[in-house]
Amino acid sequence: MNNKFDVIVVGAGHAGCEAALASARLGCDVLLCTLNVDNIALQPCNPAIGGPAKSTLVREIDALGGVMGEVADATYIQMKTLNSSKGPAVRALRAQSDKKEYSQYMRNILENTDNIWLKQTCITEIKVKDSQIIGAIDEYGIEYSCRAIILTTGTSLEGKMYVGLQAYPGGRLGERPAIGLSESLRKHGIVTKKLKTGTPARVDKRTIDYSKMEIQPGDETLSFYSFKPNRPVRPQFPCYLTRTNEETHSIIRANLDKSPMYQGLIHGVGPRYCPSIEDKIVRFASNPSHHIFIEPEGLNTYEVYIQGFSTSLPACVQVEMLRSLPGLEKAHIIKPAYAVEYDYVPAVQTQHSLMSKDIKGLFFAGQINGTSGYEEAGAQGLIAGINAVNFLNAKEPFELSRASSYIGTLIDDLVTKDIQEPYRMLTSRSEYRLLLRQDNADSRLTELGYKIGLIDDSQYQRFVTKQETIRKEIERLRETKISANDEINGILSKYGEHIDRGVRLAELLKRPNIKYEIFKELDERTRELNLSKDITDEAEVLIKYDGYIKRQEQQVETSGKLEKYRIPADIDYSKIKHISSETREKLEKIRPSTLAQASRIGGVKPADISVLMVMLGK
Ligand SMILES: Cc1cc2nc3c(=O)[nH]c(=O)nc-3n(C[C@H](O)[C@H](O)[C@H](O)COP(=O)(O)OP(=O)(O)OC[C@H]3O[C@@H](n4cnc5c(N)ncnc54)[C@H](O)[C@@H]3O)c2cc1C
Repeated sequence: MNNKFDVIVVGAGHAGCEAALASARLGCDVLLCTLNVDNIALQPCNPAIGGPAKSTLVREIDALGGVMGEVADATYIQMKTLNSSKGPAVRALRAQSDKKEYSQYMRNILENTDNIWLKQTCITEIKVKDSQIIGAIDEYGIEYSCRAIILTTGTSLEGKMYVGLQAYPGGRLGERPAIGLSESLRKHGIVTKKLKTGTPARVDKRTIDYSKMEIQPGDETLSFYSFKPNRPVRPQFPCYLTRTNEETHSIIRANLDKSPMYQGLIHGVGPRYCPSIEDKIVRFASNPSHHIFIEPEGLNTYEVYIQGFSTSLPACVQVEMLRSLPGLEKAHIIKPAYAVEYDYVPAVQTQHSLMSKDIKGLFFAGQINGTSGYEEAGAQGLIAGINAVNFLNAKEPFELSRASSYIGTLIDDLVTKDIQEPYRMLTSRSEYRLLLRQDNADSRLTELGYKIGLIDDSQYQRFVTKQETIRKEIERLRETKISANDEINGILSKYGEHIDRGVRLAELLKRPNIKYEIFKELDERTRELNLSKDITDEAEVLIKYDGYIKRQEQQVETSGKLEKYRIPADIDYSKIKHISSETREKLEKIRPSTLAQASRIGGVKPADISVLMVMLGK
């Protein structure tokens, strides 16, 4: 076999699959190496895609031409819109996945993509010459040449798993760790650090008494991730809810001395927003109970996932803890809960393109950058895949701004904020969250996906038609007036509303109790048009929140001024007077590319930005 490729992607997890597909679809020859080809796009934790903020990432991936949304739509066993009664900025789709089907579906896409060469092997070394990637070496000593490498190694680098005080080498249950690559990175001057994450036990559903739990069904009206057509309607399966109690908490408290975290065996910091159950009991000691969701892992398996019960306590304690939960008194554990500690590469060493600041052609994406979550990984993989191709073709890097997307926000946070704990996307991380909604990801990004070459003509035409329909519908709602008569007020009274004079539909829609759906009762033309939900949802949001949206657009314009001040890569901060030494140190470490990015670095003060602005102006 010829061992020459354009791009080598290390890892076929969520980041690696998107990266390989983007690079290959843009014409590169891609070698995709992974530790186990039967674990492609594995969901080693929660078998679900989406949820708050993450659903927006999935829609953005889709709008740019990635595949995560398509795979989640094709393999769901439950679809649910969370926060549906709250504002549009926090509404979020969540797909419970059939874990095996998800992995197989992704593998099929990879195998049916020209230019992707899949290989089960462990990459142990990168090869660098004159600060530029020239290849990689695997565990068998085979050398590969390439000009770009995308590292998406997840939790595997020097991975060590813990069940109680017992440690096992491994990146995730049933998979060996990746040894060698971290050392090779360090030899080339890349700094690595440790993080930790954990997952709950998997239980045999035949040993669960669901009658003692609350049922959590999926939605009756389905929504999907992908903006592509022909989304499959599949049977849905419920999840269940149970709760911890005083007995659970006292078992955990009595066994904290057997926790590797509390005994100092694990040094890496764990995810703040997905804490282990022992962390929750200790940190929120006054809370008498915590929600535990019981989620199926697939259609053809008895394995269920115990969400909210992640732990690194010993296996025998896990049985006791689980059996204290209502409905799980006879629980049989198929796989134990465990924690894993792994190497990551703090992303302040990379640029917004996700390429290393010091080694040309070396890209990082996913958990290796300090994030946690499939969606965060997929989003970065897509951007790294596109930028590896741009780098090879000597094109400008593809960078997304914070104002354009959650993907842009995520990457900017990673490369700017010197993350010290697993980073998860949250709606609160965006200052523009009313602009960056899951419903309008396509209107924000499809044009870009098309220009890059990952969105085909037919998808682009569908997008143009959809935008035009939304525009026309908003116009119609602004023009159509309904009269204040008994019939209309009879309908409106059902929703706690009344009108004294004729009112345009757009004006009426701004009232909190009025939803677009109600117009089907009030207005014949709305019934005739019978527009699809994704169109009416977006039209409704654009009218209802018009004032807020305009205000955020103004904010974007103001902050855009700082984005225009580019900072030269070779700037010598030691020569700049009138900035504090703390600021100088941070600027030297992060080397921001614009004044706007500099202003977001923790500890950099507005006065420092003014000094920099004057200097750059000169
Ligand atoms: C125990 C555990 C608990 C987790 N808990 C959570 C959680 O609570 N919340 C959450 O959001 N996410 C959680 N996750 C994280 C989630 O699984 C990851 O964020 C996501 O899968 C990261 O995607 P990735 O593509 O970066 O890496 P992964 O999906 O892990 O894929 C990495 C791939 O790289 C391959 N690989 C690694 N090194 C090499 C090498 N040297 N050569 C060849 N191949 C290599 C591996 O085989 C693997 O296929 C958890 C993961 C684990 C393992």
